[in-house]
This record gives sequence, structure tokens and C-alpha cells, in this order.
Amino acid sequence: MTDQTRVEIIAVGNELLLGDVLDTNTNWLCKRITGVGGQVTRAVLVRDDHQAIIAEILAALERTPRLIITTGGLGPTGDDITLQAVARATGRPLKLDPEARDLVKARYQELAERGHVDDPALTKAREKMAYLPEGATPVANPVGSAPAAMLEIGNSVLISLPGVPEELKGIYDGTLQPTLKKIFGDGFYEERAVIAHCGDESTLAPILSEVVAAHPEVYIKSRARRYGPEVEILITLSSAGDGRERVEGNLDHALEELTTALSGAGFDINRTDR
Ligand code: AMP
Ligand code: MG
Repeated sequence: MTDQTRVEIIAVGNELLLGDVLDTNTNWLCKRITGVGGQVTRAVLVRDDHQAIIAEILAALERTPRLIITTGGLGPTGDDITLQAVARATGRPLKLDPEARDLVKARYQELAERGHVDDPALTKAREKMAYLPEGATPVANPVGSAPAAMLEIGNSVLISLPGVPEELKGIYDGTLQPTLKKIFGDGFYEERAVIAHCGDESTLAPILSEVVAAHPEVYIKSRARRYGPEVEILITLSSAGDGRERVEGNLDHALEELTTALSGAGFDINRTDR
């Protein structure tokens, strides 16, 4: 799995580190990214703190992943400082972006028409959401008010998404798709799983090691699902890369070899959906 697109995630928010809010955004993003053949190589949680966010962005840029995603801290309140930190970390000052301003303005007009807010006026607090690092592209938010921001730095793309899960998902699955398709290309991820019934997990190890060594493009993982006299081992095989056919071919090949080896050693094997 060497040609995978590397992604890093930085989840911003005091509430996450206080234990008030569970960081479901990272988990959701990890699933989406894995599903298109990408590899999340690192994910961190940081407080709403300039220095902390800047340090994480700089360190991430240093590792040159293809994509860096930040979540949280894009709202209208003073503690939402993610874009200020992005601006400082990348040396691109915050500027009022006319396109982002139009997006925010249109959103509040819509919210006022629907009776969700009393006044559609673009107040200072609302306009704050239209200040982006210079050179960033605003990405419309189909669910909420704060647009996301996208910035290209060298070979990396840095995308800042809002923290509200519905907004993050709306942008990721909606307005951001053309960009993500370019980044992940024809990427594909697939998994297969089998259950091996055996009396002793340790007898499985040498057989697994051989198949693992013969198929570096397939990630093979085993874990006990049931202990006791009737041990059940769940073995998952996963692979990611360019093109469905190639990935499925690699998996089928590894699975066949594994099944043959295990059956030959007297294991009882069944396919499973997990
Ligand atoms: P923010 O964009 O930082 O103002 O976040 C708005 C709200 O979204 C927070 O109050 C949380 O309830 C929620 N939120 C923020 N970050 C996350 C996250 N990583 N996972 C789940 N919910 C989050
Ligand atoms: Mg926040």
C-alpha cells in the first residue's frame, strides 16, 4: 500500500479535549478517506489556541501529505480562530474574500426568509466568516453559514472545514467532491474477512506471516473474536490503490492463498461480512 494518498487531520476545539464533545468528525473523515483509497497517516486534537494550531499545521506541512484537513473553529465567535492560525502558519494574511462574503450574505438572507434569524444583515460577527487567508478558495457550505477554505501550499492542499458534523459532511460530500475526486483520483478500497475456528491462536501465526510476506499490497490483520475452548479468529484482508479491478484482484489472490494454507493446516474457514 505504498502509492496511497497521505492525509492528515487536525481537529480543533477545547470541547473535544475537555471531554464534552466526542471527536466524531475525525472518525467520519477517516472512513471516507479510507473508502477512496487514501491513507490517514496522522490525526490530532488541539485546543482553540493560536500557537497549538500553528504548530500542528507547520508540522503537518513539513511531512508533505497530499491533503491536510482541519475541522472546527470557523464560526462567528472570537474563540473560532482556525483560519487566523492557518494565515499565520502559511504567511498569508487574512483578507475579506468577496466570494466568501457573498456566500455568507446569501446564507443569512435565506435564513431570514425562512424565519431562522430575525435580521439578514451582514454584521461584523457574520462577516468574520468571510475572512480567508490570502489565496484561499472559499468552498460553499450547503448546510450552515461558514464557508470552508481551501489553500494550496506546495504539493499539499489544506482544507479547513467547520466543526458542526452536519456542515462538515455537507461540504465534504457536496461542494468539495470535485476537488476530492482530483486528489484521490481513481482510488479504491476493499476489504474481505474470514473466520478461522481453531483451538490455539498461536498456531495461526506462522501461516499468516507467510501470506503477509507474499502479499505486501494487502494489509492482513487477525484478532480473536471469541475465546474459550472454541476460539474464533477474525482475519481481515484490506487493500487500497488505483482502480477497483487491481485492488480486488490483489485481495482475491491473497485470500485464496490464505484459505488454502489454513485449510491445509486443518483450520475450519468461513467467509464473513464481519
Ligand atoms: P466550531 O466549528 O469549532 O465552532 O464547532 C461547532 C460545534 O461542532 C462544537 O460546539 C461541537 O459541538 C461540534 N464539533 C466541533 N468539532 C467537532 C468534532 N471534531 N467532532 C464532533 N463534533 C464537533
Ligand atoms: Mg470551536
